[in-house]
Amino acid sequence: MSFDIPVPDLTSERIGNTGTPGVWHFDSGVAGRTLMISSLVHGNELCGAWAIKELLASGLTPRRGALILAFCNLDAFDTFDASRHDASRYLDEDLNRVWSEARLAEPNSRERRRAVELRPWVERADWLLDLHSMHEPGKPLQLTGTQPRNIALARRLQAPEYVIVDAGHKDGVRMRDFGRFGDAAQVDACALLTECGYHGDPASITVAKDQIARMLAESGVVDTADVPAGWLQTAPAAQRVLEVTQPVVAPSMEVRFAENWQGLERLAKAGTLIGWADGQPIVTPYDNCTLIMPSLRQLVPGVTVVRLARDYVAPAQ
Ligand SMILES: [Zn+2]
Repeated sequence: MSFDIPVPDLTSERIGNTGTPGVWHFDSGVAGRTLMISSLVHGNELCGAWAIKELLASGLTPRRGALILAFCNLDAFDTFDASRHDASRYLDEDLNRVWSEARLAEPNSRERRRAVELRPWVERADWLLDLHSMHEPGKPLQLTGTQPRNIALARRLQAPEYVIVDAGHKDGVRMRDFGRFGDAAQVDACALLTECGYHGDPASITVAKDQIARMLAESGVVDTADVPAGWLQTAPAAQRVLEVTQPVVAPSMEVRFAENWQGLERLAKAGTLIGWADGQPIVTPYDNCTLIMPSLRQLVPGVTVVRLARDYVAPAQ
């Protein structure tokens, strides 16, 4: 899989204007939401960094509320090498698994120390758009978590086509689910994590810019007409909302797929063969099961190799 995105030069962007490296803050002085847009939570996911670099260059400032722009794991990004880009995902541990009081109170890794620096900005944000990319080629995915307000926001944005309701990782809390973003009582604390496509695909930058444009306008921080020209793409005719029911976790290195799954395959019948783990078949547990982000690229015992999803049905009000 070729890597076709150049490495952005962040020499000036990494300074920020807040005293926190890589963090920019623009306050309109007018009442309104504070929107945070974050990139490089994983050091090898360049689409968001490119999009925020270009947003800064555009000179856009908020009309209402405030805008926070963040380049998150700059230390991991500094080790980026396109020929082995997965190696720069993080340095000591995944920055997107440390967002709990217990882990932040024990800043014994470079990622936890960075999270402690970023924390005041994440806490200040009313809305968060966290831009990521994927190990494998595939359509962009909006990962909303399980808060109904995030699912509703993803629908108001009208893109991308696929909205995935995911419960998050049992091995640690994501930035998207930190603090009031994970609190059901905080009815306007919305956070979305967009997987913009394959790490090395230039189209992922187009997706990141489109998502930024939609969040900027929907949050009220700017008007649609303020968004840089060409950023807003045509929305899909309809969105599909899928709910992840379970991950398939590798018990060992002995995991194979039955087909070269690309992701978003919808398998009609329960019992359809997905692959094998330790020689035992892995099958779909229900009809119309959709495969989300299948990948054996980072296979180690305990890693999620595919998530299984069914059509989302909103809970009764
Ligand atoms: Zn990521």
